[in-house]
Amino acid sequence: MAVIVREKESCPYCGYILNYEVRINQPKSGTSIGDKYARCPRCFKLYLTGKSQWYEKSPKEKIFYYVNMYFVSIFLPSICGFIFGLLSWTFLPIEDTTIHAIVSISICGIIVIVGFIILFSRFRADISESMERMPKDSTATERGS
Ligand SMILES: [Zn+2]
Repeated sequence: MAVIVREKESCPYCGYILNYEVRINQPKSGTSIGDKYARCPRCFKLYLTGKSQWYEKSPKEKIFYYVNMYFVSIFLPSICGFIFGLLSWTFLPIEDTTIHAIVSISICGIIVIVGFIILFSRFRADISESMERMPKDSTATERGS
């Protein structure tokens, strides 16, 4: 089930509204990639974002992320594809029913495929970007010893 989550996020210390998000079926903890802590622009205190970097995530959170990644990448383009397929079926002035059906299904299919590629690669880019932020522990311990 897709649920649209509307969430107001405010600083736990001073109540400053940090952002106002509308998300689709994306529980924040675990599935969102980002810095674990952020600084409030008003009171300059560190607060927990509910996000975490890829290397900080537990195997369970990674599985949730993948499930969410496939779900969103397939679900959203399917809805768009269906709507545009239906629109072309209803409004395109094509006499031949067979051609009309092929055109409508093709429009739907192209939107689903292109949408999937765009969304999926965005999720993948988020992961690899997060991986690059991983602290190089091996070099740090070498210097420390
Ligand atoms: Zn604050």
